[in-house]
Amino acid sequence: MSARIVLATRNTHKVGELRRILADAQLDVEVLDLAAYPDVPDVPETGVTFAENALLKAHAVARATGLPAVADDSGLCVDVLGGAPGVFSARWAGRHGDDLANLDLLLAQLSDVGEDHRGAHFACAAVLALPDGTDRVAEGRMHGRLIREALGANGFGYDPIFVPDGERRTSAQLTPAEKDAISHRGVAFRALVGHVRELV
Ligand code: IMP
Repeated sequence: MSARIVLATRNTHKVGELRRILADAQLDVEVLDLAAYPDVPDVPETGVTFAENALLKAHAVARATGLPAVADDSGLCVDVLGGAPGVFSARWAGRHGDDLANLDLLLAQLSDVGEDHRGAHFACAAVLALPDGTDRVAEGRMHGRLIREALGANGFGYDPIFVPDGERRTSAQLTPAEKDAISHRGVAFRALVGHVRELV
């Protein structure tokens, strides 16, 4: 029987990305997500770093399910804003997960900022937590710059205004496979795959 791990997120975009990355690694693991565990409560993201929040989520789900759990925490860090929205990316405009309001607020905040100062990066911390309380952490980044209007229909969050280094398209104009190959989450999860492999 293959080993089972559970992905500690209810974000369907992330579940899709993580499943693709784990499938590409050809691991003999059955990947469950929280849809199979409706009673596991949402964990408040009280950490002030991506790694702290990912550790909170992964350990809570490993404890609740008795299975190895994988969690990530991610966000957009804008140079001229000193790294904000950072861990507040999902709730930048006040309401958790309102992607459009978050993106519009950020564009308004940067409206007077010139082309030379629109650098930013996405960051991701990925964690594997085991039911025995141990864990492994991996991190990834994708650098780029922010444009002034939303372009593209793929991805989620701030993708329509983010152009990765070496690209002319926004990350919302990349195919899912193109984004996985360079994304903060792709880098972090491919680094974590080695630890998952030790499990199976
Ligand atoms: P999390 O679900 O707590 O990790 O929050 C992630 C938030 O950061 C999302 O709601 C998005 O606003 C932003 N974010 C993280 N990764 C991405 C990405 O790959 N594309 C676009 N936005 C992202």
